[in-house]
Amino acid sequence: MVHSCSAQFHVRASTGFIVHSRCGEKLFAVRVLIVEDEAKLAGIIRRGMRERGLSADVAATGEDALWMAGATEYGAIVLDVMLPGIDGVETCRRLRADGVWAPVLMLTARGAVRDRIAGLDGGADDYLVKPFAFEELLARLRALVRRAPAERPAVLEVGDLRLDPAGRQVWRGTDEIELPPKEFALLETFMRHPGVALSRFQLLEHAWDGEYENRSNVVDVGVKSLRDRIDRPFGADSIETVRGVGYRLRTAELP
Ligand code: CA
Repeated sequence: MVHSCSAQFHVRASTGFIVHSRCGEKLFAVRVLIVEDEAKLAGIIRRGMRERGLSADVAATGEDALWMAGATEYGAIVLDVMLPGIDGVETCRRLRADGVWAPVLMLTARGAVRDRIAGLDGGADDYLVKPFAFEELLARLRALVRRAPAERPAVLEVGDLRLDPAGRQVWRGTDEIELPPKEFALLETFMRHPGVALSRFQLLEHAWDGEYENRSNVVDVGVKSLRDRIDRPFGADSIETVRGVGYRLRTAELP
C-alpha cells in the first residue's frame, strides 16, 4: 500500500526516531542500509530517507555491506542485485549466514525473474523492480519492518540435523559434529533447500563462492566427505543422489 499523505513528517526528537506523516500514520523508525553501487541512485534514496527523518547509510559493494551490517544494527536493508564483486543474492545469503536478520528488500531489474527467486531463496524478504517510485520503496520497507519482530529461525533444522549459521555449529540429535568449512557450507546449502534436488553447479555456486576449479568432481568429493561425517557414523542416509541432477537433502529419514 502506497500511502498518499504529503511528504512532510514530524520527528519527535525526545524519542529519537518516532516518525509520523502529517496525516498521523506511524512510520517505521529505523536505520536503513542502502547497498547500491550506482552512486546517483544511492544518493537519491538516502536523501529521500533523510528528508523523512530516517537515518540511512550507503554501501557501494556487497563486501562493504557485510562489514557495515556486522558493525551496526540496521532495521532494514535495501539491496541491489547488480553489484560489483559479490552480487546482491550472495550478499544476502552471507548476511543471513552471519546472523544478520534485518528485513532485506532486493532491487532487481525488470524481467529478472531468476534474480527474484534466487534472492528470496537467499533470504531476502521482498523485492522491488527497477525503476520504482520512491514512495513504493518506503511503503514496502514499512511493511517489512512492521512484520520484522517475529523471531527468525537462527538455527536451521531438517530432521534431527541442526545447523547454526552464526555459531558455525552442527548437531545430529544431541551430538555436535565438527565440519571443515567447505563441508559446512555444503550442508548449509542443503539445509536452506531441504527436499530440493540441487545440481552440482548450484552447489558449487553456493558453497564454493566462485573460488573453485570448474570440475563437478569437487562437489562429489565434498558430498562424500560430508556423508562420512553427518551420515555414516549415525547409520543415516540423509543426502540422496539424484540421477542426472545432483543431490538432495531428505526431509525425513528413510525407515
Ligand atoms: Ca547496481
